[in-house]
Order: sequence, then C-alpha cells, then structure tokens
Amino acid sequence: MNRIQTIAGLRENPDVDVLVIGGGINGISVFRELALQGVDVLLAEKGDYCGGASAALSRMVHGGLRYLENGEFKLVRESLLERDRLLKNAPHYVAPLPTTVPIFDLFSGIANGAFRFLGLSRRPGRRGALVIKTGLAMYDFFTAARRIVPTHKFRSRAETLKVWPAINPAIRNSATYYDAWVSHPERLGTEMLRDTMNEKPSARALNYARISLGDAGLALNDGLSGEPVAVKPRLVVN
Ligand SMILES: Cc1cc2nc3c(=O)[nH]c(=O)nc-3n(C[C@H](O)[C@H](O)[C@H](O)COP(=O)(O)OP(=O)(O)OC[C@H]3O[C@@H](n4cnc5c(N)ncnc54)[C@H](O)[C@@H]3O)c2cc1C
Repeated sequence: MNRIQTIAGLRENPDVDVLVIGGGINGISVFRELALQGVDVLLAEKGDYCGGASAALSRMVHGGLRYLENGEFKLVRESLLERDRLLKNAPHYVAPLPTTVPIFDLFSGIANGAFRFLGLSRRPGRRGALVIKTGLAMYDFFTAARRIVPTHKFRSRAETLKVWPAINPAIRNSATYYDAWVSHPERLGTEMLRDTMNEKPSARALNYARISLGDAGLALNDGLSGEPVAVKPRLVVN
C-alpha cells in the first residue's frame, strides 16, 4: 500500500492489530514475519529505513566465537546458522571474511576461559594455542553439515613466518578462520521491506512517521505533512 493510501486508511480507521515502532533491521524483520503470515501490521519509522544502528554497525556477521568461552554453545550454533543463511540468501551483500589470529603461547586463556564459563570472570585476556584450537574446532563442528565457508587453518611458527615474514618473531602459531561481513546492511533491510510489499501488497509501512504518546493515545506524525494521525494498535512492538 502506498503512503497516501496508508495515511488515508488510518484516518478512516485507526485500528491496527500490531504496530511496529522502528524500521531498523529488527523492526523490518518483525514486520516481514507478521505481514507474510497475514497479520494486520503497520511499521512506522521516524527517519529513513535502516538509518539508525542498522546502518552503522561494524559490518561483521559473526557466529560469536568468543561466546564459546562463556559456554553459550546454543547461541553460537544459532548465530552460525544465521550467518550461513545470510551467506546463502544474500550473497550480493554478505561475503566470507577470513580472519587471522596471531598466537603467542600454548596455555594462555585456559584458566580465564574456565572462570568465564563458571561466570566468575568477564575479563578478556590473551588466548593460547589450546584455547583457540578448541574454539575453532567447535566452530567447524557446528557448521559441518553445511560447510559454506572453509574450515579453519592452524599454522606452525615456520608456516606463519613463511606467509608473513615481517610478523613479530615471538609468534608461536597462527590460525585463520572464516566469518562473514555485510557490505550494505541498510540495503539488506530495504530489500526485505520491498520483498514483503511485493508478497503482501496490503502490508503497511511508513518512513518519516514518528510515533509519539500523547493524552489521546498513540499518534503517528506524518513527517511530510506535519499532521498527526491517530493509531490504535492492539499490540505494540517497540
Ligand atoms: C558501534 C556498533 C557496532 C556494531 N557492530 C555490529 C556488527 O559488526 N555486527 C552485528 O551483527 N551487529 C553489530 N552491531 C549491532 C547492530 O547494529 C544492532 O543490533 C542492530 O542494528 C539493531 O537493529 P534495530 O532494528 O534493533 O535498531 P535500529 O537500527 O537502531 O532501529 C531502530 C529504529 O527505530 C527508529 N525509531 C526510534 N524511535 C522511533 C519513534 N518514536 N517512532 C518511529 N521510529 C522510531 C529509529 O529511527 C531507528 O531507525 C553494532 C552496533 C553498534 C552500535
């Protein structure tokens, strides 16, 4: 539905089942899920879609390797699944990201990792070969059934110095593993929005539409006309 139709429709009948406030990646995703399931949903974004944090991230799409130290295996497994889905479904924006870790000793990080696992410490510290090798082996194990990015490569000191002759000579090993990066996160968001509108032309989404709470309840401020429009949702996703 276009902007004029959406605003005219709300003026006629402000009732809506779900109002999603904020058109960042999370708001758009919630909007998409609900709209595709036939729920009457309205998405309102006060500025440009994906103009907030969703355009300003570091652009990493990672499985959360370091969360393994906290014992968050379920979270890492789920993040890796999402990472691989993005690599598969959006190869025009998401690409593999090789990452190399320099390693200077064997045992560092074992005690710290155990403390973190037990919730006794949140202090980051240097990780040795054993901790890194274990983490990367788990990373590979979690993705074994899909194998979208290559498995990690662990190098000896000699192999490392051969690849990077100018590296700190105190190096012991190096490890290269793969995560992913997203080149244009905001485009990924707007593409999901367009996809939703194509699938469900009756879905309603507005940008330049700030939601505020006044004495009369929720109102949507149409940024183009400056006019407020009442909205009466049964449920708000903020
Ligand atoms: C510095 C930094 C680096 C990051 N790096 C990464 C990374 O590498 N990888 C990664 O996966 N994640 C990263 N993140 C996290 C990621 O950016 C966020 O988790 C994600 O963008 C949050 O999306 P969102 O939709 O919840 O929020 P946002 O994208 O901020 O969307 C919220 C939207 O709500 C709108 N809004 C607010 N109030 C109203 C209102 N009253 N009416 C209407 N609209 C309103 C805003 O305009 C905004 O567009 C990073 C975050 C930061 C800050």
